[in-house]
Amino acid sequence: MNHERLIIVGSGPAALTAAIYASRARLNPLILEGETPGGQLMSTTLVENWPGERSILGPQLMMNMRAQAHQLGTRFLLEKLTKVELLQKPFALTSSKNKRFTTDALIIATGATPKKLNCPGEQKYWAKGVSTCAVCDGALYKGKKIVIIGGGDTAMEEASFMTHFTDQVTIIHILDAFTASAAMQQRVLDDRKITILYATVVKEFVGNNEHLTNIVIQDTKTGICRTIEAHAAFLAIGLKPNTEIFDGQLKLTSSGHLQQINYTQTSIEGVFAAGDVADNRYRQAITSAGVGCMAALDAERYLANCKK
Ligand SMILES: Cc1cc2nc3c(=O)[nH]c(=O)nc-3n(C[C@H](O)[C@H](O)[C@H](O)COP(=O)(O)OP(=O)(O)OC[C@H]3O[C@@H](n4cnc5c(N)ncnc54)[C@H](O)[C@@H]3O)c2cc1C
Repeated sequence: MNHERLIIVGSGPAALTAAIYASRARLNPLILEGETPGGQLMSTTLVENWPGERSILGPQLMMNMRAQAHQLGTRFLLEKLTKVELLQKPFALTSSKNKRFTTDALIIATGATPKKLNCPGEQKYWAKGVSTCAVCDGALYKGKKIVIIGGGDTAMEEASFMTHFTDQVTIIHILDAFTASAAMQQRVLDDRKITILYATVVKEFVGNNEHLTNIVIQDTKTGICRTIEAHAAFLAIGLKPNTEIFDGQLKLTSSGHLQQINYTQTSIEGVFAAGDVADNRYRQAITSAGVGCMAALDAERYLANCKK
């Protein structure tokens, strides 16, 4: 069994920023990268809101972050964390290849997984018009026909956001009424740039092999299908935080995210959380990276106090 001072779980913006800070603080961190090295930004094309980069491909941005962490001394293991024992010290971890580790401090940055519709064409046109983040990609679709799928607060927010770029926004919602808060619904209902299709589901995403062009939709009451034009479709049907393996040992919020008790600390001292795994509000690369930095600084302080 290997003993580590600091293990960081994940390899998205939160984990890699934590690794950069922890390496510079000479904590010699070990990263368990998980099944999606680089995290969610690996599934997108252009990122235009990362300060200092006017426009950069998501995978390139993540490769840059990884290279920087590696150059500073971070060690990487292409393995998934499968089991944690956090009610003891040092904490014990088991990885997918049955490796066992103990660690004095742990930073959890396992992110979240966007929920998908799993309908035909979704995978083919993923990042080619079909995406999950209007706030991230919206500016690429000025004057275009946009579809937002969902009926909660995120769908309302994304629809309103898209009206800054186009007056052709359609919300497709499976139910007869939205589930969003009253104030957010009203903003959408009052906006002439937004058309609402209730009791409607997406049957298929259609395109020209290069990009999304149309969506086949079905009225759930009449069963009638029709095709509408769409240059981009944003799924706003929720994100699932990757917290299953911590359930029962760390406190979770009602949405299933890790609860942060004191800045980045979780319900157990010495275990810190950063990024989308603990954030149900901002869900951006830059906010994840920022909290990754905070988690590394908190872990550094915790480890320094442990020594005394
Ligand atoms: C299509 C799309 C486009 C986006 N565009 C933008 C954008 O333009 N700008 C922006 O700011 N944000 C954008 N976002 C949001 C941004 O990607 C996320 O907010 C950000 O990636 C969250 O970072 P994170 O480090 O918390 O986690 P994630 O990026 O979700 O990474 C999680 C990491 O944890 C690892 N992991 C999970 N479980 C385990 C485990 N058990 N063991 C080990 N590792 C594990 C995974 O392998 C992965 O590396 C976009 C998101 C999507 C889906």
